[in-house]
Amino acid sequence: MFLNLKWFKFSLCSKKILILTYAKANEMKKQCLECHDDFAGRVDAKFCCDSCRSSYHNRTNIEGREEIKKVNAILKKNRKVLAGFNKSGTARVRRSFLLTEGFNFNYLTNVYVTAAGKTYKYCYDHGYLESEGEYLTLVIKKDYVR
Ligand SMILES: [Zn+2]
Repeated sequence: MFLNLKWFKFSLCSKKILILTYAKANEMKKQCLECHDDFAGRVDAKFCCDSCRSSYHNRTNIEGREEIKKVNAILKKNRKVLAGFNKSGTARVRRSFLLTEGFNFNYLTNVYVTAAGKTYKYCYDHGYLESEGEYLTLVIKKDYVR
């Protein structure tokens, strides 16, 4: 019969006799997040072994990197579109022109609301202000915009 030493607590009683206490009561039957095998572990344990722990974290980090790359590509494209229409520092352009060039209005890096209540939306240093109708006013970010 296999006995895991982790399941026991060691202590010495007053007569210097080694006491083994079965400590598995503190452990629960768990399922490993990586291999889905059952294992006995502490309440907060998520993996059956270190190998599963590192496999899981390596894999989830790669998935995170893909998502970051995807969003970065959209933001970079948005900035390029805004910069393409705004060579002089300010410009008025139809919303549909930005869409035609592949601008994605759902992705921004910051939003700046002026004291007067105007909302500037930015992709990095290039941004726009929505006005009535189809037109947007393109701007380049000033130092006071954070
Ligand atoms: Zn595992």
